[in-house]
Amino acid sequence: MASRQAAALLTSRSPDKPASALHVCVVGAGLAGLACAAAAAAAGSCVEVIDERSALATHPTHVNVVPNLLRDLVALGVGADCVKAGFPYRAIRVMDARGRNCCELPTPRLAPVGYPEALGMAHGELVGILAKAAQDRGARLFWETRVEGLGWNMGRATLTLSDGREITPDLTVLASGALSPLRDAVLQIRTAPVCLGHEWTYTHSPRPHGFDHASLVLDSGGQRAFIVPTSPSTIGIALTSGDASRPVPPVLQPLLARLAPDTPRVVRPLLAGFLQAPWHRGNLICVGECAHTLPPHFGQSAAQAVEDAIVLQQLLAQGLSPAAVAERFSERRHARAQIVYELVTQAARAQLSPNEETDLRALFLRLSRLVAESA
Ligand SMILES: Cc1cc2nc3c(=O)[nH]c(=O)nc-3n(C[C@H](O)[C@H](O)[C@H](O)COP(=O)(O)OP(=O)(O)OC[C@H]3O[C@@H](n4cnc5c(N)ncnc54)[C@H](O)[C@@H]3O)c2cc1C
Repeated sequence: MASRQAAALLTSRSPDKPASALHVCVVGAGLAGLACAAAAAAAGSCVEVIDERSALATHPTHVNVVPNLLRDLVALGVGADCVKAGFPYRAIRVMDARGRNCCELPTPRLAPVGYPEALGMAHGELVGILAKAAQDRGARLFWETRVEGLGWNMGRATLTLSDGREITPDLTVLASGALSPLRDAVLQIRTAPVCLGHEWTYTHSPRPHGFDHASLVLDSGGQRAFIVPTSPSTIGIALTSGDASRPVPPVLQPLLARLAPDTPRVVRPLLAGFLQAPWHRGNLICVGECAHTLPPHFGQSAAQAVEDAIVLQQLLAQGLSPAAVAERFSERRHARAQIVYELVTQAARAQLSPNEETDLRALFLRLSRLVAESA
């Protein structure tokens, strides 16, 4: 029975079938791919997700579920699960190295009444919730399966998989990450995100009593940390590795002192990259970091990945042909994501080399006004 279903799933469908019956193949089970899988399955598509990894990524990182991300997670039908798994907070306190408050960044409520303004949550919790939502809606996840090549057959992408299969889905969603050679091969471009300068270290730590707010610590040398409660018992910490010769900002010392030497951590370079239009070819679209690799400033990286999913769901629900879905997706997402990318990258560069002209709060407010409108 299962193999019959799989065979049916892998059979090509006519390009003019209604979107509700489309066979959608998502390449990559990161946050973007899983959100798109849940969205496409909710729109009635027959979805399979292919990933070369053996299971969901579990690294000790957090996601700052900023107001527009929470609004979109609610629209995706997973808002309540996220609230249950995370820790709500209101406003981000910006402080200097000694812990003196400099200003507050507002977090307006964009999710429906009854939801908090914003949340912190473990990255693994969010991808787990999205994977479950996708599977509950009928999506099938294929682990340890690599897309080894992409060819074209009458304007449609044909995927060669490491298990020997060759499939020609109605719509291919490329969610294979920032450094995807598949994207470059498909779009016949050479692009790679640039490293803006230094690295971020992410870890989880026990939540100090009374720590129920999100904090951004900036010191005059450009070092930076973002701390957010992620559950009643944990906080997530992201800090720039910075200049080793500089002392750790005093406000961070007690938090870092609580970390055992063997506490798991992950180090990630500060990458920025933006795919120029179009984000599609034929019946294939690029989503998530494959299209927009955003620095973590202002929490838009995951938020933009989930916006991709929301727009995909809306277009699929309109019953358009796969090629029309791909074209309209590219049109709707590119211009908006580019403004977000520019604002966030400006903030990242200003943090690396602080200057008088860049007002981080003003950038944040500009960004907030933009993303307050749904994509
Ligand atoms: C350490 C860390 C911390 C983060 N913190 C935050 C945060 O606080 N706030 C925030 O907004 N965002 C954060 N992000 C970013 C956010 O998680 C990403 O925006 C989001 O994961 C989108 O990435 P993605 O799904 O596009 O790509 P990825 O997560 O890179 O997933 C790509 C997937 O594609 C698979 N793949 C690639 N090539 C192939 C192939 N040929 N065949 C099969 N599978 C393939 C890979 O195995 C991988 O699973 C963080 C990311 C990391 C890694």
